[in-house]
Amino acid sequence: MTPLQQAIRQLKLEKDAVILAHYYQEEAIQEVADFIGDSLALAQQAKRCTQSIIVFAGVHFMAETAKILNPEKKVLLPDLNAGCSLADSCPQDTFADFIARHPGHVVVTYINCSAEIKALSDYVCTSSNAATIIGSIPKDQPIIFAPDRNLGKYLNTITGRNMLLWDGSCVVHEAFSFDKLMELHRQHPGAQIIAHPESETHILETASYIGSTAGMINYVKKSPHDKFIIATEAGILYKMQLQVPHKTLIPAPAVEDNTCACSECAYMKVNTLQKLHDCLLHETPEVTIAEGLRHRALQPVERMLQLS
Ligand code: SF4
Repeated sequence: MTPLQQAIRQLKLEKDAVILAHYYQEEAIQEVADFIGDSLALAQQAKRCTQSIIVFAGVHFMAETAKILNPEKKVLLPDLNAGCSLADSCPQDTFADFIARHPGHVVVTYINCSAEIKALSDYVCTSSNAATIIGSIPKDQPIIFAPDRNLGKYLNTITGRNMLLWDGSCVVHEAFSFDKLMELHRQHPGAQIIAHPESETHILETASYIGSTAGMINYVKKSPHDKFIIATEAGILYKMQLQVPHKTLIPAPAVEDNTCACSECAYMKVNTLQKLHDCLLHETPEVTIAEGLRHRALQPVERMLQLS
């Protein structure tokens, strides 16, 4: 443990704080976190927290969800610039117009969206529980699904629904190169490809397993195979490798050449260990939400948690 990590541990105790980290955070941050998970697990954990400060090592919509569930707690985000391309692809005004142009639809939104979009929704979901939530809605009820078109397309396939899809996407999950992936698979013919459903259809069609980050970790743990190519943000490899130290995990390659040849979320990597330390020390930047908006966003999030 480095001196900076030790200082963070000490501050956590002094301040009665808990650190929640997403799987896509850098290793040094995951090492000091009290809880590491995907969006659903983090939302559930945020609801269970007893500490007075939640430091959210993730992106803005995740910290916002923690605040929606914990209005009495101080929620800190190491860097307010930790946004999300998928959340940005669904602006409030145009989405409100879209809903108004399609009356009679139930609105289901993926958790990767702003509090304003959650407040316009009937249900929030994550990739772990989306199929269950959609399955709870009567079959003849038209549904709008937003913001991720790739996840929406995949859900339409596995649920047999014909949901109306908002045209948003995640830059990281659309950055995988099909040609490089096929070349990598040729080099490792025994490896299984596993993918997150935010990936594009032609990537999903190559996968032996499609699921949430938590689902992918479970699959790799239980699978009799010992080599995998992982098509999601490369930060997941840290926690996954800890769970399966004897298995070989290879990140799926991105279109652009980069030093690690894998796909990393630049938004997630805006957070650093130093920023985590400083935000805990100074108790800023804080994520706040107007009470009326928080209240409207809470109902669809709570519906999700009840169904999960
Ligand atoms: S990986 Fe994609 S969906 Fe996840 S935070 Fe980054 S930009 Fe958003």
